[in-house]
Amino acid sequence: MDTIQNAINGRKVTSVSARIAPVYNPATGDQIANLPLSTAEEVSDAVAVAARAAGPWAETPPLKRVKPMFRFKELLERHAGEIAATISKEHGKTHPDALGELARGIDVVDFACGIPHLLKGEYSRNVGPEIDSWSDRQPLGVVAGITPFNFPAMVPMWMYPVAIACGNTFVLKPSERDPSASMLIWELFQEAGFPPGVLNVVHGDKEVVDAILDHPDIKAVSFVGSTPVAEHVYRRGSASGKRVQALGGAKNHMIVMPDADMDQAVDALMGAAFGSAGERCMAISVAVPVGEETANRLVEALAPKIRMMKVGPAPDPDSEMGPVVTAEAKQRIEGLIGQGVGEGAELVVDGRGLELQGYEGGYFLGGSLFDRVTKDMTIYKTEIFGPVLCVVRAGDYEDAADLVNSHEYGNGTAIFTRDGDVARAFAASIEAGMVGINVPIPVPVAYHSFGGWKRSLFGDHAVYGLEGVRFYTRLKTVTARWPTGIRGGPEFNFPSLK
Ligand code: NAD
Repeated sequence: MDTIQNAINGRKVTSVSARIAPVYNPATGDQIANLPLSTAEEVSDAVAVAARAAGPWAETPPLKRVKPMFRFKELLERHAGEIAATISKEHGKTHPDALGELARGIDVVDFACGIPHLLKGEYSRNVGPEIDSWSDRQPLGVVAGITPFNFPAMVPMWMYPVAIACGNTFVLKPSERDPSASMLIWELFQEAGFPPGVLNVVHGDKEVVDAILDHPDIKAVSFVGSTPVAEHVYRRGSASGKRVQALGGAKNHMIVMPDADMDQAVDALMGAAFGSAGERCMAISVAVPVGEETANRLVEALAPKIRMMKVGPAPDPDSEMGPVVTAEAKQRIEGLIGQGVGEGAELVVDGRGLELQGYEGGYFLGGSLFDRVTKDMTIYKTEIFGPVLCVVRAGDYEDAADLVNSHEYGNGTAIFTRDGDVARAFAASIEAGMVGINVPIPVPVAYHSFGGWKRSLFGDHAVYGLEGVRFYTRLKTVTARWPTGIRGGPEFNFPSLK
């Protein structure tokens, strides 16, 4: 069985840790690899290497820094099939879905290739008598990323291509559930010609995370994962003086107005609720039909489609939805479905108890649909992170919008309508960071930025796009005068234009 290694200073190294985590294939339930959970000393080794690499890398002209970035992009595209297969094997998502996440990650690499233009800064001549001023965005040094299981390629690539293009060096701690994609991608990164130590990968759990948060030589931390851990990362990292962006969980609502195109809304909900077995931070987990008639039509149309959904292992080209990631996740989701029934929601489609011939050990669940869910129920308040869609019926648009606005999470939300006024009001006042109008999963493209509101993001900056550039650089403004003509003796008053 494979033992997954760390990657430090351009080489793969085997961790000395005696603590080992098993990595499973969720479609079969078989253990497929051992993952040593690295120690705090191994984090220090990686940081020391990254710190040595940081000076020369920051001094490398931006145009030279992006030369290997272009090659990296080509290599990722050439090896896309292999990377997607690696993702599916440990995560469980279907092959086309894995290719999709990789493509969105590659978009960020593409964005990072344009960094020379984005780091140009601003210049103002003659801000005062014979004085010129310019601003410049400079790298921070060593920065780190801590990532979740649900996008093992894309989420790390939200971070390090931008950080590294900006002139930083990087330490990545991937999820312990599906660590292999990071290693395969790291090999391509080295093959692209980046200097050793620019990107390092240290696998592990809380011990590695806390070592990253406490390390004095790490200047900034990007985190994506569940809200309790995001909050911990934000507090502990900030307390040790770091810049932190910590993206957390979600409960994304989709409002369906009475005038919506119902076929379009139903298809959108199917993909957004059940794609990747609902294990997306931008999954729609709550549908909010407005009016009883809209709700009845929606539930009637959804139920048969959910029952007919093809659940299966990733390599089967007919699979529309794979297994969930671990046995514990399956158990937790089944437990929440039971709780929903217990609290009085109407379980229209029950996805529990699904057995697939030949995959009896896999962590499969069918899609589940709850109707008549209310605000006080656990299945409404909790991020289920599985293939479970809750329908909360709303009387009018205001009720629906209040529901979205009063939820603790504010990652994404969508509205399906033909009414431009309602759509405009929704975009202007809804309390979420990413908003879709007749678009169910409004994940911003690489040259915009991704980030939620409320308890879906701790920190000030979203990830990638210009927000990523701002997060991974610090602003310096230089005001310069050359000793030419002006002489006036000492000036004790605050300098201003008279
Ligand atoms: P998780 O919080 O369990 O793990 C995320 C990372 O934190 C992993 O690297 C893990 O090793 C580490 N970690 C776990 N427990 C820790 C602890 N107690 N102390 C320190 N570190 C710890 O999340 P997950 O289950 O891997 O991913 C699913 C979650 O991520 C969902 O809540 C989902 O909404 C969220 N997510 C959010 C976004 C977003 O952009 N907002 C994107 C993807 C996933």
